[in-house]
Amino acid sequence: VAKSTVKEEALQKIKVTKTTHSRLSEVDFNNLVFGKKYADHMLVADFDGKEWKNAEILPFQNFSVSPSNAAWHYGQAIFEGIKAYKDPQDNPMIFRPYDNYRRFNLSAERMGMPEVPEWLFIGGMDILIDLDRDWVPTGPGCSLYLRPFMIAADEFIGVRPSDTYRFAIINSPSGPYFNKPIKLLVQDKYVRAFPGGVGYAKAAGNYGGTMYPTMQAKKQGYDQILWVDGYEHKYLQECGTMNVFVIIGNTAITPDLEQGTILEGVTRASVIDLLKDLGLTVEERPISIDEVVTAYKNGTLREVFGTGTAAALAYVEQLDYLDTQIKLDTTTYKTGAEVIRRLDAIRTGREEDTRNWNYQVGE
Ligand code: PMP
Repeated sequence: VAKSTVKEEALQKIKVTKTTHSRLSEVDFNNLVFGKKYADHMLVADFDGKEWKNAEILPFQNFSVSPSNAAWHYGQAIFEGIKAYKDPQDNPMIFRPYDNYRRFNLSAERMGMPEVPEWLFIGGMDILIDLDRDWVPTGPGCSLYLRPFMIAADEFIGVRPSDTYRFAIINSPSGPYFNKPIKLLVQDKYVRAFPGGVGYAKAAGNYGGTMYPTMQAKKQGYDQILWVDGYEHKYLQECGTMNVFVIIGNTAITPDLEQGTILEGVTRASVIDLLKDLGLTVEERPISIDEVVTAYKNGTLREVFGTGTAAALAYVEQLDYLDTQIKLDTTTYKTGAEVIRRLDAIRTGREEDTRNWNYQVGE
C-alpha cells in the first residue's frame, strides 16, 4: 500500500492530543542512558475483539491495568525494537520499519494475537515521530529507540487467548552504544529455542527465559551466551539478543532461519547485503561450533560478531566451548568495521540509500 494512502488513513483514524508541557528540557542529551527517558508522546490503541479502536497519540503516561490482566499471567506479549535518526537536513528517518512491521505481525500470529494494520503501526509511528522530532538525538551514534508492543488486555485469569489487546509505541532517546568486544559462553545446558517453539517471534517470554542462564554466564565473566540447538548442543543460533556471523576465509556464515529457532534480524538482513557488497560470499546455513573451532585451529577464522538494533555490530573477542577457548584480536576486524561504518553512514543519510532502507518521516 502506498505510503501516502497509509498516512492518510492514519491521520483520519488517530486522535492527537499534544502535551501542554514538554519534558524535553529535562533531558541531558549529552548523557543519554538507554531506556530511562521517554519522549513526550506515545501511541495507544485498543483491539476490542473485532477491530482496532481508540487510536490516540497522547502525552506519555501510565496505563491502568487490572491485576487479572491476561498478559501478566500467560504472556501474550510481543514487541519490536527500531531506531530513528536524523538526516543531514535535520529530518527524522526510521530504519527499515516495514521489516519490523512484518516481523511484529509474525510474532502476533504465533502468539495468537491480532494483526496490527499498517495505518496503525507505520502510519501511527510516522505521525508520532513527526510530533516528537526534537527527541531524535543527533550526536554521533545517537538515535531514538522506538518500542512498539502489544499485550493481551482481557481481565480474566483462565488460560485462553485474550479477546482484547492493547497496542502502543513508546520512544526513548538513546546515546552511543559503546562497542566493547564481547566474551561469549557456548551454552550446552540451557536452550533458548527449539523447532516448533517460539524462537522466531519477538515474544516477551523468550527474553524472560534467558535471564537466569545469562546471569550465570555473567557471574563467570562472560558478556553473553552463544545459544546453540537443543538436540546436539552444537549448532549456533544467536548470541544474547543478536544474530551471529562467523567469517572463515572469504566466506561469511550465519545460521539459516529454516527451523524457526532464530529471530530474523533486520540488522542481519542489512549486514548480509553489505557483506556481499564487500565481495564476501555469504552462506545462510547450519554452522556448528566444531566448524568454528576447526577454522580457529587451522588459522582461517577471521571474525565473529553479533548483529542487532541496539549494538548494530558487536565484535566477539572470546568464545568458550567446553575446554576450548577461542581468542580473537578484534583490532584486526576489517570486515566488521567496514560494515558498521557503511550501516551508520546509510542510516544517518551520509551515504546514498540505494536499497531504500530509510523511511522519511513527515512526508
Ligand atoms: N535476536 C534476538 C533474540 C533479538 O532480540 C534481536 C533484537 N531484536 C536480534 C536477534 C536482532 O534483531 P534486529 O537486528 O532486528 O534488532
